[in-house]
Amino acid sequence: MTQDDDLFTNLINNNKNTKTCCGCHLIPNSPELLDYFHIPEWYKYNSHIVYGYRPTSNFKKLTASIFSIHNETFNIWTHLLGAILFIFLFIYSLIDGSNNNIYDNLSVDIFLISTIICFSFSTIMHTYFPMSKKICRILANFDYFGICLLIAGSYVPFIYYTFYCYFKIRTFYLIMLGIITMGSFPIILNHHCPQKIRSLIYITLGLYGVIPIVHKFIVMNHHQENIFLTELCLIGLVAFFYITGVLFYTIHIPEIIHENLFNYYLSSHQIFHMCTIAGAVTHYFAIEYAYKKHINYVCS
Ligand SMILES: [Zn+2]
Repeated sequence: MTQDDDLFTNLINNNKNTKTCCGCHLIPNSPELLDYFHIPEWYKYNSHIVYGYRPTSNFKKLTASIFSIHNETFNIWTHLLGAILFIFLFIYSLIDGSNNNIYDNLSVDIFLISTIICFSFSTIMHTYFPMSKKICRILANFDYFGICLLIAGSYVPFIYYTFYCYFKIRTFYLIMLGIITMGSFPIILNHHCPQKIRSLIYITLGLYGVIPIVHKFIVMNHHQENIFLTELCLIGLVAFFYITGVLFYTIHIPEIIHENLFNYYLSSHQIFHMCTIAGAVTHYFAIEYAYKKHINYVCS
C-alpha cells in the first residue's frame, strides 16, 4: 500500500472529523486532504482553490470518495443528480411520445441523450481524474467532448422546430451544426489549448444559434409567430445561464476574490455546473413547449 493509499483510507474513515455547523458536516478537517502545493502538476487546474484535494488513488477508493467531503464533492453531485434527472426525463419522453411523429420525438431525444452523456462524463471526470496523469487527460477529453455534445444536441430540436415547415433550411442548419461541432473537436481536445480559448469555442458554438434566429425573423410565418417568440424567450434564458456559467468558469470568480473561502462550496466551477443544469432544464421546458405545440401541426 502506497503513502497515498494510506492517506485515502484515512480520508474515507475520518470523514466524521468534519467541522460541524448546526449538526451538519460542512468543512472537512481531515489532514489527509492535500493543499494545492502538494499535488502533482497534472492535477492542478485552478490555483485559487487551495485546500481539499484528494490524494491520487485507485478506482475503488475514488468511488468511495463520492460520499466524503473534499473540493470535488459538489462538482460530482451536481452533475450526477443532473444526469439522473435527465434519465428520468428521457424515460418520460419515451412513454409520453410513443404515439407521436418519430422525427419530433427524435429531435427531443437527441437533446436528452446529449445532456445525459455530458453530465455523466463530467461526473466520471470529477470523480476519477486524480487516478493518474494519463487517466486525467483521457477523462478531461471526455468532459470537453460532453460539453460540445450538450451545446450541439441542444440546437438540434431548436433548429428542428424553428424551421418546422422549411425542410431544406432546417437540413442546411443541422448539417452546418454538425460540421462546426466536428470542427471544434480538434481544438477543444488539444491539451495545449488554453482554457480561455476552449471557453471561446464554447461561446462561439453557443452563438451559432443567433444565425437561424435572425433567419427565422426574415422568413417568419404568421401561424408560428407566437410559438416562436415564446420559444425565443426561453432560449434567451438558456443562453443567459450558459454564458454566465462559462464566464464564471473562465474568470474564476468568486475564489479569485477571496481564496480559502470557496475551496469546498460555491467555487466558480461549481457555479458553472449549476448554470449548466439550470440551462439544460430551461431548454427542456422550451423544447417540451415547442413539441406540444407542433403535435398534429400541419404546414400550410
Ligand atoms: Zn466540471
